[in-house]
Order: sequence, then C-alpha cells, then structure tokens
Amino acid sequence: MKLKSNKCILIVTYAVVVLFVLMIVWIGYLDIVGRKNIENNSYNKRVDSWAENVVRGSIYSADGNILAQTVTDENGTEKRVYPYDNLFSHVIGYNSNGKSGLELKMNYYLLTSNDNELVQAVNQLSNQKSTGFDVITTLDTRIGEVASATLGNNKGAVVVLDASTGEVLCEISKPDFNPNTIEEEWSSIIEDSDNSPLLNRATAGQYPPGSTFKLVTLLEYIIENESYDDFSYNCTGSINYNGSQMSCIYHSAHGNVNLSRAFAYSCNCSFATIGIELDMTRYKLLCDKLMFNTDLFTDFECKKSSFYLDENSTDFDIMQTAIGQGKTLMTPMHNAMIMSAVANDGVLVKPHTVAKVVDKNGREKMKFESESKTLLTSQESEILKKYLRDVVTFGTATNLNNKPYTAYGKTGSAQFDDSNPNLFHSWFTGFAEIGDRNIVVCAVVESTYDGGNTGKAIAQKVFDCIAQQ
Ligand SMILES: [Zn+2]
Repeated sequence: MKLKSNKCILIVTYAVVVLFVLMIVWIGYLDIVGRKNIENNSYNKRVDSWAENVVRGSIYSADGNILAQTVTDENGTEKRVYPYDNLFSHVIGYNSNGKSGLELKMNYYLLTSNDNELVQAVNQLSNQKSTGFDVITTLDTRIGEVASATLGNNKGAVVVLDASTGEVLCEISKPDFNPNTIEEEWSSIIEDSDNSPLLNRATAGQYPPGSTFKLVTLLEYIIENESYDDFSYNCTGSINYNGSQMSCIYHSAHGNVNLSRAFAYSCNCSFATIGIELDMTRYKLLCDKLMFNTDLFTDFECKKSSFYLDENSTDFDIMQTAIGQGKTLMTPMHNAMIMSAVANDGVLVKPHTVAKVVDKNGREKMKFESESKTLLTSQESEILKKYLRDVVTFGTATNLNNKPYTAYGKTGSAQFDDSNPNLFHSWFTGFAEIGDRNIVVCAVVESTYDGGNTGKAIAQKVFDCIAQQ
C-alpha cells in the first residue's frame, strides 16, 4: 500500500517537472523566436508607444534617396515626409490612419534604436529622442520615375526585377495616392471604389494574362512534343473547333505559321489548336509548378493567381485558357517572376523590396538572405528565350530590337468586356540583357485601345534608362 502511494507521488512529481520544463521552453521560444513577430505585429500598439522615445527611422531607395523620413519642427512636432510624393506609394505605404506597406512591415526596425534603456531615459530627461534604424530598399527612383511617367494617367501596374538578385527595382500601381496628404484625403480615397487608389495592382491586381500566357502553353507543348519544331498551322483569322469559335486579334489571318511565328505574331488560332492537343493533367501540373493557385515565392504579400482546367473542361474552356483568357487570372508580380526564372537559367530568386536595415552609424542590423527556387530546367529556359527573342526581332515587340541591349518578351491583349472586343488590358512581359544584368519588366495597362503599345513603351524606356546608367 505504502509502495503504491510512493509510486503515485513519483508520477505526479515527474509530471510537474515535465510541465515545468515545457513551460520554460515555451517562454524561451516566445522570448527568442516569437518576440520579433509579436512586436512587429501590426496590431501590437506597444511598438507604436516606442515612438515617444524614438524618432522613426528613414526609408531609402537603392540609389540613395530618401523615400520617407520624420522631420521635427522648432516646436518639437514630428511630421512624416515622403519627398517623392506618389512614387512607390503602395510599397512604402503610409504611417497615419493606420499603417501599410514598408511603414507597417518594418515598423519594429524603424522604431528600434541601439540606445539602451538608460541612455533613452537620460535622453528623455533632456528632451532628446533616440533615432530608429533606417531601412534600405531595393527600389530605384530613376527607374520608378521613368516607368511612372510612361504609364501616365492609365490605370495599371509596372514591376521591374533584377533576375539574378531578386531585387524589386520598381513597383508602380496606378491610380496611386500621396502619403504626404493621406490624412486630409482619407475619406475621398477610401470611398473611391471606381479607382481603388489603395489597391496595389502590382501584387494584388488579378488580371486575365491574355497572350502573355502563351509562354506557359508553349512550354507545355514543347515538353509534351519532342518534334515541336515540326509544328505548322494555316491561320485564316478564325477557327471553329467542334462548334467553339475563336479568332485572332482584329480577325487578321496569319497564314502558314510554324511555332516560332505562331508565338511571335501571337496567333490565337494556332494556340487554341495547341491547347486542344495538350494533356490537361500535365498542363495543370506545370501551372502548379509555376505557382498558380498557391502562395507566391516572395518576401511580401501577394494575391494568388488562379488556373482552372481539368479533364472535364470543355473544348471552349481549353481554347480560351490556352490563349490566356477564360478563368485564368494573374498578378503582374507573378508574370514578372516567371519571366525572371526564364531569364535566370530557370531559377527564380525570391523577389524582395528590403535590402537591409542599418543603424544611425550605418552598421548593418539586418540583411535580406537570398533564397531561390528552380521553376524550369536550364534547357527549357534556353528554348523559351529563343521564342521570346523572335517576338522582338520580327514579332509584336520590334520596338525593342536593334538596341544596345538584347531584349526578349511577349505582348498580350486580354479581352475583359464581351460587349467591347477592341478594349483590352494590354500586357508586356520580358527581359533584357544589359551588361551583365538581366532586367525583367512586366507592365499591364487597364482598359486601353492602344493595342499593347503602352506596355511595350514602358519596357523600352526602362531598359533604355538602365542601359544609360
Ligand atoms: Zn492567327
């Protein structure tokens, strides 16, 4: 009897010890691993209270310009100032009426100082504040200004990536807003549902990809057909397959085309025919691999792109999807990322907008750690480059030919209004080899009759700007 009760006590003791150890481990985890996440949580008001003792750090562009800084007037009143007004407003974000963009994501660092609590207390007594860390972004103001000016007053988005580093050199979304005046304009901005100025179209705009999606269809066709080079099709400007109708843009007949010409001229009838021949299960698997219907491989938030096809899809759905219409939706960032992998030997380097965080003496406190993911084999990327180059040398993007750089790309005109077939979301996605850099540009221009000219013009201006640097 005594033995049995001793055993019970022993079991209870062990249980208490185990629980105690687990509790210590959990507290340690929260303190070491979870602390930064909890403190950096946008709902954590405690971090904002640090602003009483710390002047919020600045946000810089990669080319050394101030994108956001806190200035203090003679009365000690602080004001957050954005010297480039609307430029990069969605990426940088705002710091009143809540927070967004990097102002939100980097809040913890911007309000963290090297000064210990004793120094901060002494500072406080002498009415001095410590200085928060500065955030150095990957954004380039020269590229941003060129891209923004060329997009003009159109609605749309531009993404510029360095394919070998994953740096986001430019991310523009229009309509945009001026973070300097957001407080005064807040109610008109949030009520403007026609323009949605706070929506970052580069990362959250889900558009039909139009003919830029032919790159994916082309790749699947090449993977499934060893003799893809033998492809030929006689385009009469329209096609009727088992009662499903489709036509090429402006009903133009492309005549006899091989695969290169079908792609370079963006022949819908050829690609609808190719779509019908594809194995739907494998087509879907390729799209999964290219990050449709899943979280994107980025260092910031992005909306998922979607691809819908399966064994039960109708011929019409398949034909539409093969040319980037149908239910397929894509963000400009995602389209740029696929192009980035093509440009970089099949390897996608994770896109990011923060290069590093430094203290007031320029000492590095945090740095982006590069990560990458293989989307294509290097052989697939070489083959696709050849087709993308043809688009520039004799296809729909010859404005990029005969330049001091070698450009590759694909145009797209996505219909979105059945009652107005000449109104398009116009796309360009491509890259240029400029010196030893591979620069990706993806642009989408909403609701335009320009036949894709603005998207191509943005790419040209950006490539020219970088080539001249
Ligand atoms: Zn055609």
